[in-house]
Amino acid sequence: MPDRMRDPTPAPTPAPTPAPTPAPTPDLADLVEYDRAHLWHPYTSMTTPGPVRVVTDARGVRLRLGDGREVIDAMSSWWSAIHGYRHPVMDAAVRDQVGRMAHVMFGGLTHEPAVSLARRLVALAPAGLDHVFFADSGSVAMEVALKMVLQTQRGRGAGHRTRFLSLRGGYHGDTFGAMSVCDPVGGMHTMFTDVLPQQLFAPRPPAPGGDVAGWAAITEALADEHADTLAGVTVEPVLQGAGGMHVYDPECLRVLRRICDRHDLLLVADEIATGFGRTGTMFGCAHADVVPDVMCVGKALTGGYLTLSAVLANGRVAAGISASESGVLMHGPTYMGNPLACAVACASLDLLADTDWSARVGAVSRGLEAGLRPLADRPGVREVRVLGAVGVVQLDQPVDVEAATAAALAAGVWVRPFRDLVYTMPPYVADDEDVAAIGAGVGAAVGAAVGAAVGAGTGQDR
Ligand SMILES: *Cc1c(COP(=O)(O)O)cnc(C)c1O
Repeated sequence: MPDRMRDPTPAPTPAPTPAPTPAPTPDLADLVEYDRAHLWHPYTSMTTPGPVRVVTDARGVRLRLGDGREVIDAMSSWWSAIHGYRHPVMDAAVRDQVGRMAHVMFGGLTHEPAVSLARRLVALAPAGLDHVFFADSGSVAMEVALKMVLQTQRGRGAGHRTRFLSLRGGYHGDTFGAMSVCDPVGGMHTMFTDVLPQQLFAPRPPAPGGDVAGWAAITEALADEHADTLAGVTVEPVLQGAGGMHVYDPECLRVLRRICDRHDLLLVADEIATGFGRTGTMFGCAHADVVPDVMCVGKALTGGYLTLSAVLANGRVAAGISASESGVLMHGPTYMGNPLACAVACASLDLLADTDWSARVGAVSRGLEAGLRPLADRPGVREVRVLGAVGVVQLDQPVDVEAATAAALAAGVWVRPFRDLVYTMPPYVADDEDVAAIGAGVGAAVGAAVGAAVGAGTGQDR
């Protein structure tokens, strides 16, 4: 850990974790009934929603459900809760910060939590990514990244370059700019095609050991042909997440970096899912020693406590934007640099630095290999993939999400399958026993999914 990551002030000793605040004993049936009638859930029908379970509290790797059952969260709350729930250090960071101020505007003002977090991020990120923009969510980070690239091109007198080269199978968020660089066919974005900017798409990059040269030839030809309209390249390093949990050859990142250098394009690495150790390196780009021009982080940034994302950019981008006609980056969220979120993100990054995260991720990875690899021989299973603390079982047909979820819950594990995938991204603090239980839970989900009728599960999720 480099010294410059350190605050001059020592971290406060966390108070012992108090007993959970007793929940107001809700009428569970009433909760669920009102929810069903009035609340949208992600990618879910309002008029014919699937079942939802109530969570009353959580601790470590476990969620407590309304019926009192405790289950292991194999999803880390959508890849975020890497240190588990109610971590005493993170709880204390939120409590301490709320005792000073929960929020203050970032226009014309600044504060220690934002500066400390920027310091940590700049120290962790690949060299040169020295300029930090805080946004509210991953999708907004991508919007900001796209604007950065467009403004940089304008700044260098190439304002006609407005398109992005992206990859089939990619996922970058749900807002319009982010949607435009998502996979153009799969997933939920097809219905917005007419109103989205038309981007350029290279084929899905090949799995490790696949035909990288063939993929590179197609992708390079595409970039050569359209270079004069292209502003940048967007990519999820080494793992395409919500677009299909596809692990690909890191060499493809070097190909994209070369393309960017040849044609004066900016490389945007979307590390929102892969950042902070998930794939076994601090950031996914490190698998190929590639340094992007712009990097987005989110999800695990706050350890699953609060919504926050950051966009890191190099000096070329900062200077390019300043040379554009406005001279400033045209973005500024109301809750930019929220102090509570920044404070808990600092605590999360300090925990990461203070624990041997690499060893933890390695242990989880070995546990997933042991638990999931044997599933490859099951009928109905197409492929098992493990990368870092990510385990994926791809089936031959779409998963019956409800059957799979119920089977996993019966085995004491929360999973959220989508399309033809049952997958897990355990919290890094999951011990060997937890990971073995997750393997068994995923196995149960796969068994139920393969045994069930086709077609109940479709579409987007993550
Ligand atoms: C989740 C995700 C996003 C979107 O983040 P939100 O916080 O949900 O807006 C963008 N890119 C990738 C790679 C993601 O996994």
